[in-house]
Amino acid sequence: MADYVTVLDAMVDGHERLEVRCTTCRVTHHIPWRLMRGVLKADRLDELHKRLVCRKCGERPAPEDVCIPEPVRFPGGPLYGPSTKGV
Ligand SMILES: [Zn+2]
Repeated sequence: MADYVTVLDAMVDGHERLEVRCTTCRVTHHIPWRLMRGVLKADRLDELHKRLVCRKCGERPAPEDVCIPEPVRFPGGPLYGPSTKGV
């Protein structure tokens, strides 16, 4: 993971979501920025954990459990197209 300082830094680099792990529930959530209410682009990523809480157990994530996930890369070009082989 690259060292992004603010939400905007990660956005500019093409990241669309935040990864939050709950060590109590052992689940990892990927939260799109648009669902992060009240989070501004200028907010520091290392401060976000203070605003987040697990909906299941109510625990706050540790700072190291909030990070930017590796972006999912889709193959370039369409997956389906006209067959070039003769029928
Ligand atoms: Zn939890």
